[in-house]
Amino acid sequence: VFAHFDHDPGSGLGIAFTDRHGGVSLPPFDTLNLGRSDLDDPTAVVENLRRVRDGIGLAAGRPVVTVRQEHTAEVLVVDETVIEHWDDLSPIGDAAPGRPRLARADAMVTGLRGVALCIRVADCLPVLLADAAAGVVAAVHAGRVGLAGQILPNAVRQMRTMGATAPVAWIGPSVCGGCYEVPVALRDEVDRAVPGSAATTTWGTPSLDLAAGAERQLSELGCPVTRIGGCTRTSSDLYSHRRDGADAGRLAGVVWLS
Ligand SMILES: [Zn+2]
Repeated sequence: VFAHFDHDPGSGLGIAFTDRHGGVSLPPFDTLNLGRSDLDDPTAVVENLRRVRDGIGLAAGRPVVTVRQEHTAEVLVVDETVIEHWDDLSPIGDAAPGRPRLARADAMVTGLRGVALCIRVADCLPVLLADAAAGVVAAVHAGRVGLAGQILPNAVRQMRTMGATAPVAWIGPSVCGGCYEVPVALRDEVDRAVPGSAATTTWGTPSLDLAAGAERQLSELGCPVTRIGGCTRTSSDLYSHRRDGADAGRLAGVVWLS
């Protein structure tokens, strides 16, 4: 279920990155697909999310909050209003008949305990942030467009607004610079917006190393970074859009304060 799991009982801070194992989705989304409820069986996605909630030790009924990710630079503050009516079906939004759409955002920040923030990716960076002492955490979907749109500074700024003074960051599994081939003009454009992201594939063509760019940006924002996990494209334990296209499920980065 988890490619990485760490929970500190002292501070209550937990971070986790999922892999594709331990769920109920059928091929090609086998098995722990946490997104794509438009293509996968929504009831399977709900069950997979329930397993993640149980796996991180959150009590039944506690919210695992998701958003409708559209490569924006928008940050949602997850407060009591957001979770007031949250239930097990809420994370799939309007994939459950008659239910409301999820709020559109590509980052979430909360100061609430017992609430998990769940960001879903397949090659894009899942970035988790926390200032456990201040009691503020964030989860960010940081792909090429969102990074260039400065979603990370936006999320860190929101955390500081809510009292964070020393946020630290974790970057989870994503497509690596050796694999993420792009046209040279695009590489140069992204590197201007996120310096340090220009790279070269293992076969010698222009590419993007978004994790390297994100790490440099976070460091400049005063957030020490821990890199976790390998390349989604080359690991069969992970979901990859570059490798599997529309057949790719979604793994998750999850952060919470117990
Ligand atoms: Zn790779």
